[in-house]
Amino acid sequence: MPSSTPLPIANRFIQSIEPTPLVAVQLSPEEPRIWCKLEFLNPSGSTKDRIARYMLEKAWRQGRIKAGSRVVEASSGSTSIALALACAQMDLKFTAVLPEGVSSERVWIIRAYGGDIEFVPKAAGILGAMKRAEELECEQGAFFTRQFENKDNPESHRVSTAQEILHQVPNGMVDALVSGVGTGGTLIGLHQGLSEEGCPVKPFLALPVKSEHQFELECCSFSSRIPGVVDGLSRLYKEADLPDLVEIEVIDELALQAAKRLIRKGFPVGPSSGLNYAAAALAAKQLPPDATIVTVFPDRMERYFSTELFSEYVVS
Ligand code: PMP
Repeated sequence: MPSSTPLPIANRFIQSIEPTPLVAVQLSPEEPRIWCKLEFLNPSGSTKDRIARYMLEKAWRQGRIKAGSRVVEASSGSTSIALALACAQMDLKFTAVLPEGVSSERVWIIRAYGGDIEFVPKAAGILGAMKRAEELECEQGAFFTRQFENKDNPESHRVSTAQEILHQVPNGMVDALVSGVGTGGTLIGLHQGLSEEGCPVKPFLALPVKSEHQFELECCSFSSRIPGVVDGLSRLYKEADLPDLVEIEVIDELALQAAKRLIRKGFPVGPSSGLNYAAAALAAKQLPPDATIVTVFPDRMERYFSTELFSEYVVS
């Protein structure tokens, strides 16, 4: 039944999230120019603010949540941070189910916004977290946002991010779109939104591959070096229609180096931005020199201070 109570976002800033900038980045004269959507400038520091707000507003309108309801999500971090902030603004309670081993910064931020955290063992991974979130949905009557299958996730990018990009690129035309996939919401929604507006955009999947060094580490560590980008888990992605998708493999070491180079140039990004940028630079080799290539910088660097991205700066 649709809710009769108005959405509790009047006078709260998530009501008026500004478009994020799209900037042309060329790290050196030898490298291609890539149009990068600075999604780390969203209020919680990641692109996930868009899906958090969209999924919750839709659920509110449908009468599935109201003030005081509990929301639950299984996420490796960014979505949980975005939901924790959105729930704080909308008078909702929030539980994040996280696999052990996510960076401490993520835990601190979620708790600071008043969110609760339940951990599942690291080995259970995001699948284990999803199972536990389902249990919480039943036990507590919580609203499970289900980012891996909720169509409002790509929809939020189709109606907001894609439209912003179309207004920001020269001539309103995009030739190629490059993104890593967690839920797939970004790649699917942007591809849909841009195609519908008449851009024959070619999708490229940025795929992190493990360096040999990482294979050696694997026996004692399950952690991915590119948090947020997970393979083969998303129902949204499995069922997506992405014709002519081209996979671009990027060694994880190269992705981290790209993130560090971007930070040096003043873009405060996390590892997945390095992955996307490195993949876009490789995609450029398959495209005409004047192609308009768009990618996304999904989140901010501060949530990775305790990770290897910053290990060389640690004061001992
Ligand atoms: N980068 C980061 C940091 C993320 O958290 C995510 C999503 N979990 C992605 C990239 C991938 O985005 P999407 O879920 O839209 O595929």
